[in-house]
Amino acid sequence: MISILIPMGIVLAITSFFYFMLRLLKVVREKAGFITSFLLLVFFSYGYIVGFWEGCRIGHIVALVIVVPIIILFLPVRMKNFTNALNLVSIVLILFPLTNVALSATGSSKQSEQDIGHVSSRGEQSYPERDIFHIVVDAYAGSTALQEYYGFDNSSFFNHLRRKGFVIADESYSNYPATWWSLSSMLNMRYLETKNISCKEAPKWFESEIRNNVVARKLKSHGYKYVYIGSGWESTKDNEHADIVYKGNKWINTEFLMALGERSFLKFLPLWVNYIKYNNRRNVIDSFENLEKALHLKDRKYVFAHIFCPHPPFVFGKGGENVPESELELVGAVWKNKERYLNQLLFTNGKLIQLIDKIFEKASNPPIIILQSDHGSSSSVDHDIWYDKAKPTTHMLKEQFCMFNSFYFPDRAKIIPNGITPVNIFRRIFNHYFGSTYELLKRKNYFVTNTKPFTFHDVTEDLMMPKQKQPENG
Ligand SMILES: [Zn+2]
Repeated sequence: MISILIPMGIVLAITSFFYFMLRLLKVVREKAGFITSFLLLVFFSYGYIVGFWEGCRIGHIVALVIVVPIIILFLPVRMKNFTNALNLVSIVLILFPLTNVALSATGSSKQSEQDIGHVSSRGEQSYPERDIFHIVVDAYAGSTALQEYYGFDNSSFFNHLRRKGFVIADESYSNYPATWWSLSSMLNMRYLETKNISCKEAPKWFESEIRNNVVARKLKSHGYKYVYIGSGWESTKDNEHADIVYKGNKWINTEFLMALGERSFLKFLPLWVNYIKYNNRRNVIDSFENLEKALHLKDRKYVFAHIFCPHPPFVFGKGGENVPESELELVGAVWKNKERYLNQLLFTNGKLIQLIDKIFEKASNPPIIILQSDHGSSSSVDHDIWYDKAKPTTHMLKEQFCMFNSFYFPDRAKIIPNGITPVNIFRRIFNHYFGSTYELLKRKNYFVTNTKPFTFHDVTEDLMMPKQKQPENG
């Protein structure tokens, strides 16, 4: 609720500012109200105006907000009726985004239990008291891509992990190119099917698949507590199916504020930009802090954390310092700044090293740790490919799918081959540690776009290394 009150407060503050400035200038009440409504309309629908008005420049908008109030000031007519009409428009404008927020907060996210039936699970045993930590760092590129697309050698971090007992699966490619699809598939241990779900409905569907997934349900049936570390990102910020949720930055719905900022003049206010940056930093820092808090829980637990880093916006320098000059965007041109991506990746490395030390320090029994990304980075990727306006090249696909996969198994089990395909990760873990008998699925990589979220293009051949002639079970 507070996440709604904050934007409301901002709207109120701006409205009051406009109105009292006009009253100070001795403008009569009706006209001041009318001009305020008009300015508000322009302020909050700036993004829409630019979208509809071809060739619109900031100069045009500035001219509009100067000329129209002057005309109003010199109009001889009484403004009462107009003011009422515009007040109504303002209320609708404010209610519209709020309704969306309310709907998304109350929307159903029930998930049928039948999916679990797809996979056989006979003869399973319960596993000793070992915690499972599953940490997904968003858009952390695999070593091959870091080398080829950034000229960056990440081996000091990988070697650190190896010294701690981790295995790193080289040459791993995600089954899907982006978060929703990748997490949904990996956590439910299956490929996604073509579905008749609209783009508008898709977020709810993915959110439900990610939150109420097969892996968590199976582990709960083995007596695990499902502990969920909220990311601050809409689809993974909360989880009604988990036993314990650490929501982190619970005061602010950053995405809602970002959307509000994108469509309005707010994005030109440095105070606003800094506020959003602060929130993005807070989300990541909170995720790491909450992971540390979860270490103190006594129960046997499966801890899942989706950390929105090193994914843009690039708000961390390599030492965690602020990056005042960086953009706020999550996608598109922001990815071209390779230096900022690498700095944020180095910051992530530092936080992960600290976290892993803490996990080992606190664990009474050495845990299982899955430390991975959901997909690769996007520095070479043309943003139009997500909207079916351009075709992805093999070069783009190789970067977008090249992911980071590392594992710590207390018994040093050799169950993860190089080139592991994420859909099989938990199949392999359940088979080895819980006596499950899941068959391993053939490696497949599917490209998919935002405009057609359930139309899957098989790009497995594009991503095959020269030495891998046939798709293999990863
Ligand atoms: Zn992602």
